[in-house]
Amino acid sequence: MKQIPFQNTYTSLPGKLFRHTQPTPVKEPGLISINNDLARNLGINLEWLKSANGIETLAGNHIAKGSEPISSAYAGHQFGVYNPQLGDGRAILLGEVLSIKGERFDVQLKGSGRTIYSRGGDGRSALGPVLREYLLCEAMHILSIPTTRALAAVTTGEDVIRDRILPGAILARIAKSHIRIGTFQYAAATEDIKTLSALTDYTLNRHYADTKVEIPALSLLKCAVKAQAELVSQWQLVGFIHGVMNTDNSLISGETIDYGPCAFIDHYHPDTVFSSIDHGGRYSYKNQPAIAHWNLTMLAQALLPLIHKKTETAVEMAQEVINIFPKYFSSYHNSGLARKLGISKLQDTDGDLINSLFETMSNAKLDFTLTFRYLSDITNLKSSQEKIDTPQNIEMELGNWLPRWLERLELEKIEASERQKSMYEVNPVFIPRNHLVEKAIKSATEDGDFSEFHLLSKVLSSPFSYNSKYERYGIPPRPEQVVKQTFCGT
Ligand code: AMP
Ligand code: MG
Repeated sequence: MKQIPFQNTYTSLPGKLFRHTQPTPVKEPGLISINNDLARNLGINLEWLKSANGIETLAGNHIAKGSEPISSAYAGHQFGVYNPQLGDGRAILLGEVLSIKGERFDVQLKGSGRTIYSRGGDGRSALGPVLREYLLCEAMHILSIPTTRALAAVTTGEDVIRDRILPGAILARIAKSHIRIGTFQYAAATEDIKTLSALTDYTLNRHYADTKVEIPALSLLKCAVKAQAELVSQWQLVGFIHGVMNTDNSLISGETIDYGPCAFIDHYHPDTVFSSIDHGGRYSYKNQPAIAHWNLTMLAQALLPLIHKKTETAVEMAQEVINIFPKYFSSYHNSGLARKLGISKLQDTDGDLINSLFETMSNAKLDFTLTFRYLSDITNLKSSQEKIDTPQNIEMELGNWLPRWLERLELEKIEASERQKSMYEVNPVFIPRNHLVEKAIKSATEDGDFSEFHLLSKVLSSPFSYNSKYERYGIPPRPEQVVKQTFCGT
């Protein structure tokens, strides 16, 4: 039977960048979930994937024909501090697959045992972070935000030791690639220009093959700047806080990766931070664009030797590219904000209107998601969907902002029903709220009950259509349900 048609192009790169590594078998693999649509799109035989042999493969107990498992090396700035030696400490790349559309994707097992990059770690993942990543990345995907995805999750039948004993699990993760800014930092640190150059050519060819290339490293930098600007603008537009925007968690492809301490904002405040380790608020909501910009500067730094042989000239050339970030970001962010507000194109005077909305939301502690949903509902009362019964009186809280917005909409030529349709397409009602995710994790971890995980997955798969049957999934947490802190998966 055809299994996964693996290819292994990453292993054509210089050997310093990876190490052949076999997953460590686990005691008793048990299936939690398989992402049927994704598996089909990747041309993976579903019947096989669900068979005992398929599940053994997802657990790392069986290596499918054609797979050459590796762990990859990378470095990274963690909270601004450079760590020269990170790498896949608990993840193993099984290989790549071509989707039915011909796109290349990595298939990686996360939690599959120790590697040479594990340092003091056990190479394993606890069940909670695996479920969290599964729910969050799939929710991001359905919100059209570029992201790594979850192909499947399995339990291992083994315990992992963290602050307490927890059940272990493995996530099969799909990504356009796992090449990070940190991968370039690592390659640059080898001081072997051939390695850096090979990585640059490979990455450019894999992700940005259509780009006109004069100086490959500069082209790659430009593409990465654009992709990160677009990505982070989309995070801002749904109130997503990544929480650990280290350069090793920043992919050149522009996909979201690492769903450790991330969370969606409930009530809006620009300084919001969830991560238990982010004491200074470095990765707060409002800082995310500036941090992405800073991370790209680290990429530029790594690429300098390939940009020009005279460092001074290389710096100037790289700086010019890096300087475009704010412009790209504003352009993506503004067009996204316009759409959320039912406006075709922002005018200069709209800046005030938007600032005043966010200020009001912040002062009144309005729920980020439901405020935009409310605006979508009221933009055309005749055709609005059944409405969520919000605990907050958004209409009252928005006060005299609403008439200003309604007046602005009169300048738009579009029919109200069309505007509403377009707003409903970008203003979700169901997002993976922290308290819901935590509840699903708790039942699975403490009682082995995965029903809440599956139900939440189902609700999150239709984020833009309200269904009163799932009312409780749309409502913000009550004060006693608020999750104030999130934790890295380690
Ligand atoms: P993360 O916080 O997931 O971005 O991980 C940062 C670094 O720590 C990466 O190099 C990981 O591979 C490594 N790491 C995290 N958890 C573990 C673990 N349980 N065992 C080994 N390495 C780990
Ligand atoms: Mg990471």
